[in-house]
Amino acid sequence: MVKGIYVHIPFCSYRCPYCDFYSLVDSPVGPSEYVDLILKEAELYRDTPASPETLYLGGGTPTKLKPGDIRRIVEGIGEIFGVSRFEEVTVECNPEDYGEKEFRSLKACGVNRVSVGVQSFTEKGLRVLGRRHTASDVFRTFLSLRDAGFDNVNLDLIYGYPGQKKEDLIRDLEAVAYLSPDHVSFYLLTPHRGTPLGLKVLSGDVRMPEDEEIWDLHSLLWKALKDLGYVRYEISNWARPGKECRHNLIYWTMKEFLGLGPSAWGFVGRVRYGNVRNITLYRDRVLHRRRPVEKEVKLSEEDLFEEGLMLSLRLRRGIPEELVPPHLKDLFEPAPGGLTVKEDYMILTNEIITDLLVYNSIGRR
Ligand code: SF4
Repeated sequence: MVKGIYVHIPFCSYRCPYCDFYSLVDSPVGPSEYVDLILKEAELYRDTPASPETLYLGGGTPTKLKPGDIRRIVEGIGEIFGVSRFEEVTVECNPEDYGEKEFRSLKACGVNRVSVGVQSFTEKGLRVLGRRHTASDVFRTFLSLRDAGFDNVNLDLIYGYPGQKKEDLIRDLEAVAYLSPDHVSFYLLTPHRGTPLGLKVLSGDVRMPEDEEIWDLHSLLWKALKDLGYVRYEISNWARPGKECRHNLIYWTMKEFLGLGPSAWGFVGRVRYGNVRNITLYRDRVLHRRRPVEKEVKLSEEDLFEEGLMLSLRLRRGIPEELVPPHLKDLFEPAPGGLTVKEDYMILTNEIITDLLVYNSIGRR
């Protein structure tokens, strides 16, 4: 049963050098036509068993659409799946785009959560990350959201960028403490292959922080957020109690969801599917009433075991003690489901998961 719906909005004002999401600065498909296509694609899933509780508009930059276009998506998808009001509707927003008036329009059509793409509150961070907004834009946007009545706001930040020092992260944390959002995401910067940043790192033009520097930043980060009263409920996500992102929890607990729009992923009936990463192809398929899917992977028992293990650790729910090899036990602590990675070592979660999978695949043969 589908529990959540993700809609990808592939428009951006400019491309950030670290980004590997599918988005276009000059799109051959305009916003209004795009909304029509999303609703046509959603129609193609009308017969899929669904009782969606959450709707998430991500990107790209959803606030490149006008509030009226976002309203059409929320209402149109609600009508197709028979939902008069979703429990959670999130819209990702860039700090340059909307003011209080636009946020009030979003609120009026059922949007009840906004995620602001801050990335950094320092000039240095914004410059290195190629962002064109300023810290003042973020403050203004945040206050407009509060004035419009939003009581569930996420700030999305990045740490571990080239040249970041502890004092830069302290500035970010001071701004978080001052604004007191309901939810904070802090992602460790990854120089993805094929992105301008990835190429510069590969050629040696840009140096990423060393492991010890990342370790110091990570320790500072989680301790400060804990002191501010945030609960870490996923490796990169902190929330005030009750303000965890319900939509992301659908992904992380392996419930079914639909992904709409080019490059979107979905998970239905044990099958992960990925849409085409090309808006023209996407339009052709949808106009011919064909689902624009280009990849499908049916998860085996082994895949489900591995994903379950990985997600239990990312969510700090814990895994049965017998799955943890003796040489890793010092990195773990008790959790509701058995043992989970100690918070100090969460930065190593991906490496630990790799070790666990090797240990358990050998043990299970
Ligand atoms: S990081 Fe966000 S704003 Fe920047 S190019 Fe990617 S999707 Fe667009």
